[in-house]
Amino acid sequence: MRVELINTGTELLIGRVLNTHQYWLGAQMVAQGWPITHQCTVPDTGTDIERALRTALREGGLIITTGGLGPTSDDLTRQHLATLLQRPLREDPAVAQQITDHFVRRNRPMPPSVMVQALVPDGATVLPNAHGTAPGLALTIAAQPSENIAASWLVMLPGPPRELRPMFTTQVLPWLRDNLPPLPPLASRTLRMTGIGESRVEAAIVPALGELIRAGLEIGYCAHCAGVDVRLSARGAEAAIIVQRAEEHVRLQLSAHIYGTDEETLEEIIVRQLTQRGQTLAVAESCTGGLLAHRITNVPGASAMFVAGATTYSNAAKETALGVRSQTLMEHGAVSEAVAREMAAGVRARHHTDFALATTGIAGPGGGSAAKPVGTVFIALATAAGVQVRQEHNAFDRVTFKEVTSQQALEMLRVHLGSGALENSGGD
Ligand code: ATP
Ligand code: MG
Repeated sequence: MRVELINTGTELLIGRVLNTHQYWLGAQMVAQGWPITHQCTVPDTGTDIERALRTALREGGLIITTGGLGPTSDDLTRQHLATLLQRPLREDPAVAQQITDHFVRRNRPMPPSVMVQALVPDGATVLPNAHGTAPGLALTIAAQPSENIAASWLVMLPGPPRELRPMFTTQVLPWLRDNLPPLPPLASRTLRMTGIGESRVEAAIVPALGELIRAGLEIGYCAHCAGVDVRLSARGAEAAIIVQRAEEHVRLQLSAHIYGTDEETLEEIIVRQLTQRGQTLAVAESCTGGLLAHRITNVPGASAMFVAGATTYSNAAKETALGVRSQTLMEHGAVSEAVAREMAAGVRARHHTDFALATTGIAGPGGGSAAKPVGTVFIALATAAGVQVRQEHNAFDRVTFKEVTSQQALEMLRVHLGSGALENSGGD
């Protein structure tokens, strides 16, 4: 089916606001089996919205619009649609009441303009807005060849992401399931990997998947700075078994690199594993500047396993906060295996944790040398059995450098936890 997303908003076209609806709705729709096939962004002034709507209605299928449902003069989507479909707008008393209540609850005066948000085109289903005043709208539109309109389903959503996302999940998905033609069942699985590039992933898995691909398996790769996601999907009666077989095969080839599935992040896995084991973590960060601690503390429940994070950027801080010896710093330099080792051991000892991670590296653009070029990083993992250090070369911009380095550090701990090294901690 043709699925078109129309994003409205001049701010999206002039680089003021990133169009997050496109990627968020794109991921949601593909997961539900209605991948978006066309997308356009139009300014919210003038007649561009109307033209985009008219073009989409001529083609038919599912059309989703975002933005322009609010009360200001640039919020024209509802009005354009009503004109185009010749469906009169009527004030919906329930929506009007909700809008009034919204202002009464906040004890704020109600500008008369907000009532345009209660106007509903004839025959539309109102999608209540739990986080704002403009409701969404959904309509089934019959083909009208004389008007150049093909059979369509139209869903109109408000612009603010905090309003759009819950509305999509709680209202739009049920409406789509009730109103769109039923789809053959979809099965999908995303395997998340790190420490390997997408071409190596493809070379490792595709040769033996030929039969499943012929049976309908689709493989999608999404490479990002800290890893590769491989999405396996299929449709139809055999979908689940096809995806399961493909997953088994990919795991057989690449199990060492797979850290999680679907939406799981590496930090979620670390938090969950350490919490289950009743173990704790501290981190000492130089070049990652607190990103490791940030990522871990983004996970709900991290307080069960995360004890402390020290961002020790200067040599002096490494000495006073972590107990790194000045002699080690002088002999080896701050970016060295020896310093990484003492940082990890130091933060672990000070906070009495089971594990500690430490990072020290040269983010650039300055500060590199022939022996230690920009991008050189040492990552240390301290455990009861001792300290292991991994050296990496992450020659990226500073933000990517931090992202990649923090991923490698978390991965080092994950691999250690998965290896069973802890249970026989003598063998580290
Ligand atoms: P409002 O009642 O806030 O006016 P609205 O439905 O009219 O809601 P817009 O005015 O188009 O929506 O957008 C409101 C705000 O939502 C924008 O200023 C922008 O910050 C955010 N927004 C809109 N569209 C997008 C988008 N595609 N991606 C990310 N943010 C967006
Ligand atoms: Mg608006």
